[in-house]
Amino acid sequence: MHTANIYDVVISGAGMAGSALAHALSGSGLKVALLDAGGARADARASFDDRAIALAWNSRKVLESLGLWQHLQAEAEPIKQVHISDRGHFGFARLHHQDVACEALGYVVPARVLGTVLHTGLSALDGIDLIAAAELSGFQRIDGLIQLHIKTAEQAMSLQTRLLLAADGDRSLIREQGGFRLRDWHYDQAAVVCNVQTALPHQQIAYERFAGKGPLAMLPMSQNRSAMVWTVPQTSVADVLQMNDSDFIQASQKRFGFRLGRFQRVGQRHSYPLSMRVVEKPAQAGIILLGNAAHTLHPVAGQGFNLGLRDVAAVHELLLQHGSGDAAIGAESMMQAYLQQRQLDLQLTGVATDMLVRLFTNPLSPLKMARNGALLALDLIPGLRSGVARAGMGLLGRSSLLSRGMRHEI
Ligand SMILES: Cc1cc2nc3c(=O)[nH]c(=O)nc-3n(C[C@H](O)[C@H](O)[C@H](O)COP(=O)(O)OP(=O)(O)OC[C@H]3O[C@@H](n4cnc5c(N)ncnc54)[C@H](O)[C@@H]3O)c2cc1C
Repeated sequence: MHTANIYDVVISGAGMAGSALAHALSGSGLKVALLDAGGARADARASFDDRAIALAWNSRKVLESLGLWQHLQAEAEPIKQVHISDRGHFGFARLHHQDVACEALGYVVPARVLGTVLHTGLSALDGIDLIAAAELSGFQRIDGLIQLHIKTAEQAMSLQTRLLLAADGDRSLIREQGGFRLRDWHYDQAAVVCNVQTALPHQQIAYERFAGKGPLAMLPMSQNRSAMVWTVPQTSVADVLQMNDSDFIQASQKRFGFRLGRFQRVGQRHSYPLSMRVVEKPAQAGIILLGNAAHTLHPVAGQGFNLGLRDVAAVHELLLQHGSGDAAIGAESMMQAYLQQRQLDLQLTGVATDMLVRLFTNPLSPLKMARNGALLALDLIPGLRSGVARAGMGLLGRSSLLSRGMRHEI
């Protein structure tokens, strides 16, 4: 057993949220450890796979402040327009980047590329001790500190920290052992994702097509490919994955239609079970949950990581205000301040995403009429359009220091 080291902050989990947070806290003067059960390489982590991630405009600003955007830019396809429609019905809506006077509503990047950028240089970050292939197996509170028990292939070790930041994903051990209350919904759906080569250029339009049993999104990617995210009932996933390419093209084209011409080629398919989990109070007794540990959303609105980056920005700001070695790090006042900053955004984004899924998968005729009316209204009313676009861009509410380009100043 090693002697215990005392850190200001330990981040458990170096996925998208945890590694972004490590970049944010480097050079802050805080003594930080970042540990992850996976290896040192990004491709050892499950979420840096073939999925495409839609980054909201606000996330671009945060990544710019962290000095990471410049490395992502070449692979980031701008979303200039979002087109939302309901298959077989009259209503549709379009959100334009001009509605909000920004060069794009957001960007699409491959998760793998995002992972490489987040992980490059992680081990050399100023003030961050990276402990890779190290799994947190438990923790306990001792004299105002949190003692962590960690297992590596060679040894067991323990660390102490004033503040434990749980970025350990949707099956968070910290959430479970910390007794955080969770609200969860199951949709009995899965997302089937793959890349698609289409006959017509996507013109930087992201399509969200609601079709009977689940939405089908096509996100614009570089080299004129689109990333398909098709939500199917859990009972059909195996069939959809096993179809040969030509049957899959036919079935998905039937759902989506021909706005992008014929689907010519599809890449490898992967599936993800979908549910929604939101922790009621993500900060208590020296622990803050962030990213998927605090909220797992249906990917219909592409908000999961964007919401996680807003958690990261809030934690960064609170820690900057409290400073290194300050007794207030991890104190109740800090927990309350975090909740005050984050709870409304977390609840609103969770509820809005859930409503979207339920509204557009409900077969009742009055609801179909109502949602088509809503889409038409959205298309026709500029104020409503810009409001919805700003929500999707992560621009509602208070803007963080990181989204304003301020990394080390208050
Ligand atoms: C199909 C699909 C499409 C999506 N599309 C979008 C999108 O367009 N836009 C968007 O914003 N979001 C999207 N998301 C959501 C996004 O992928 C997640 O929000 C994001 O991956 C969560 O990152 P995280 O760091 O919180 O968790 P993870 O990436 O899961 O990272 C958790 C990390 O914790 C580590 N870990 C776990 N347990 C331990 C332990 N006990 N000890 C040490 N380490 C541990 C793991 O090794 C892992 O590295 C999508 C999700 C899916 C499934």
